Amino acid sequence: MENKKYRNYILRNYNDLPQLSKLSEEEKEAVGIVGQVLPFKSNNYVVEELIDWNNVPNDPIYTLTFPRKEMLSKTNYTQVKKLLDDNDTEGLKKKVHDIRMKLNPNPAGQEHNVPVIDGIKLHGMQHKYRETVLFFPSQGQTCHAYCTFCFRWPQFSGMNELKFAMKEADLLHQYLHKHTKVSDVLFTGGDPLTAKAAIMSSYIEPLLTKEFEHIRNIRIGSKTLAYWPYRFTTDKDADDLLRLFEKVKKAGKTLAFQAHFNHPVELATDAQKEAAERILNTGAQIRTQSPVMHHINDDPMVWAAMWKEQVKQGMIPYYMFVARDTGSKSFFDVPLEKAWNIFRKAYRSVSGINRTVRGPSMSATPGKIQILGVTEVKGEKVFVLRFLQCRNPNLVDIPFFAKYDRKATWFDELKPAFGEKEFFFQKDNLLGKAGKDTDFLWE
Ligand SMILES: *Cc1c(COP(=O)(O)O)cnc(C)c1O
Ligand code: SF4
Repeated sequence: MENKKYRNYILRNYNDLPQLSKLSEEEKEAVGIVGQVLPFKSNNYVVEELIDWNNVPNDPIYTLTFPRKEMLSKTNYTQVKKLLDDNDTEGLKKKVHDIRMKLNPNPAGQEHNVPVIDGIKLHGMQHKYRETVLFFPSQGQTCHAYCTFCFRWPQFSGMNELKFAMKEADLLHQYLHKHTKVSDVLFTGGDPLTAKAAIMSSYIEPLLTKEFEHIRNIRIGSKTLAYWPYRFTTDKDADDLLRLFEKVKKAGKTLAFQAHFNHPVELATDAQKEAAERILNTGAQIRTQSPVMHHINDDPMVWAAMWKEQVKQGMIPYYMFVARDTGSKSFFDVPLEKAWNIFRKAYRSVSGINRTVRGPSMSATPGKIQILGVTEVKGEKVFVLRFLQCRNPNLVDIPFFAKYDRKATWFDELKPAFGEKEFFFQKDNLLGKAGKDTDFLWE
């Protein structure tokens, strides 16, 4: 078994990594400037085995992890550059903070849906959809490498007031104990698998007891298979982690590993394949998801290749997301119609066993909204949409229409079709009030 010791890459400027000498002068400068705003973290696996250095800066994994010039607006780029040139440390700090705040650090109403128990807000949890509680272990608020498109970066860059983390397993368990309609707990982050196996055990093992019969599925959302597969092979507590997965299975529950893969390159190394096999051997499932992004994977053939390789490795393709409005979004933007065309062309080119995937889906404030397609109804061009998930579960799977908009990249840019004032779910308080107890929707 190949062994690799995790090495973190710190990047202040292009001199810190010899491979970066391949960049143009302009791109070299961008590493230092954009890197002030977007948090950077990479490691020896991503740098040595995933990035094709003969293809930088356009290489998809380079673009996924390294700062590039176009990730900041021209104005912001010039401002940061000037402050750096002037050695204005205080001004720079302030400017970086301002830019970060404007880059929408907390999209899609994540501050809503924070559950409350005995009057205490549980900031390490989110409960938006009846069956599934998200839990953000405080020890998992980092990742093995950071993605440049990620909307969670405020958590990594020291903006602590936005940290959705909770110290205590106890509160999680209390909450789940009271809410017997919850069947799924989804551990997320950051990357929860940056936490030690012992920590994950302390959260998960109590859920395997009789008291929590209603919890059927333990889900872990993680990028680790793509960015640090050694977590499951040669890391010190790799075997402990896999034993924990086995315990979930033995308790009669499903361990669903929700693996984030953005590009087929991430599915092509021996280390990754071996890690996936070891996870599956515990009886766990691996389900896969990714946003569709310009410069990374806005090509149906890339998606088809990804799904086929995943199925070959025993994984289940699960979601294609529309990248949500975040930091460097305009760089990664894919218009909704294009996202649908990418999905549809990839979907029709693979066999039925790959078609477990659903998308493209937008995680918007009311719920996960799938773009079913573009069509014409009585002469009006429209988007056909539906909820895959909704705060009000009664609304799931009902088709609805939005006026066609060639340029729209997100749900909030869409208007109802046929001249209507509201979408059907905006009537009669069907979604309840944002941030308020939504239990009444779940009866
Ligand atoms: C996506 C998501 C889930 C999980 O949804 P599934 O469709 O069950 O995978 C749960 N909670 C929130 C807030 C989500 O965005
Ligand atoms: S691994 Fe996930 S949480 Fe971490 S930076 Fe990438 S997208 Fe964000």
